[in-house]
Amino acid sequence: MRRNLSIIAVCIVAVMALIAVYTAGWLNGQSGQGPALVKEAQAAGQTEASPVKAIEDREVYYPGSEGLAPDEMRVTACGTGMPNARPKQAAACWLVELGNRDKFLFDIGTGSAERIAAMKIPYNYLNKVFIGHLHSDHFGDLDALYCGGIVANRVVPLEVWGPSSIDPKYGTKAAMEAFEKMLAWDIDTRMGNTDTRGAFLKVTEFDYTAVNKVIYQKNGVTIRTIPAIHIFDGPVSFILEWNGLKFAYSSDTFPNKWWLKHTKGVDISIHECFIAPESLVEKQRFTPQAALNVGTQIHTSPAQFGKVMAETKPRLAVGYHFFNDFDTTPAVLRDIRMTYDGPLALATDYMVFNITKEKIKVRMAAVEEDVWPQPSTIPLVPPDPKLRRVSMSQEMRAGRVVHRDVLENVYRYINEKFGSNEKVPQ
Ligand SMILES: [Zn+2]
Ligand SMILES: [Zn+2]
Repeated sequence: MRRNLSIIAVCIVAVMALIAVYTAGWLNGQSGQGPALVKEAQAAGQTEASPVKAIEDREVYYPGSEGLAPDEMRVTACGTGMPNARPKQAAACWLVELGNRDKFLFDIGTGSAERIAAMKIPYNYLNKVFIGHLHSDHFGDLDALYCGGIVANRVVPLEVWGPSSIDPKYGTKAAMEAFEKMLAWDIDTRMGNTDTRGAFLKVTEFDYTAVNKVIYQKNGVTIRTIPAIHIFDGPVSFILEWNGLKFAYSSDTFPNKWWLKHTKGVDISIHECFIAPESLVEKQRFTPQAALNVGTQIHTSPAQFGKVMAETKPRLAVGYHFFNDFDTTPAVLRDIRMTYDGPLALATDYMVFNITKEKIKVRMAAVEEDVWPQPSTIPLVPPDPKLRRVSMSQEMRAGRVVHRDVLENVYRYINEKFGSNEKVPQ
């Protein structure tokens, strides 16, 4: 009997000890597991639960947060969709950044200025645009970059390169002259009111029939043009070469002999790959005849894109110019894979490609909605008083209601905050 009692006592003590161990674990946030188990797991080589250092190999690109190596090229998709810009995809636009600090834009289609802004690049560096042809889905946001750039601290002219056509009126030069006329009110109202050193266009029109001709050469960068086949005379494609790396961009083209000859083995080959014809019928109610005409004759269909890539064998083939959605991409991919089984990316906006001789890394950028333009890299200067400042008519001026007391307060506040000595104009 006494022996039985002592066995019961031992059992009670053991149970209490177990409860104590369990409770201690629970209090430590270990969900009821005893500390011994944690030690065992640590001994088994599990990694630290809470590292304090950033993960080196990021799977996401955060604009403005990564340096480019001196031998590296970064290509960012700032527009990959179709002519109608939509929240997910702007129309055609590609940003190329090089380890030598140079930056180039290829096409600047509708909606793309917003994507460019998300890259946090000072606008002084966004001053070189190469336009493949004059469809609005390839240059529709040029005004946004031009005028937006002026107010966002670009103090250097915007330089534009684009092709001629069979008639001067269809060339880039004529388009840019009309563009400047269209913007007369915008530009003239800024003159004399802000630093407008960036309110100038420099246009270079080149021969659209030129084959592999150099149209830009500076700082180790060579850009060549080849003709593109797209509805009418004028469209071209571009090939950029730098530091042994080659970037090819089709803009819009039907498969053609110049592309096949001059883009063989390039590092990144960005070629239009239109939506599969069946999607035009199903989503847009095109007739089969219209879908086949637009999707296979005016543009390069996915199956033809595959054929082009199979023949040119780039390090990476990139298809763009289609709405890249869960219900459209399977048909695009199915058709490409009928003719091409090499490395492939199906572009959507904010896709980022880091290219070196050793590696091509493809990621998506994570962008901030509340991004601001970066300050100018060149100090701003006061408005030039000699510039043709437009002045309001007496009739309009007489309509002003001046709250002088309110303005005195605003001026005083700013003067005190920033040490200035500005006076409310009379
Ligand atoms: Zn086009
Ligand atoms: Zn297009």
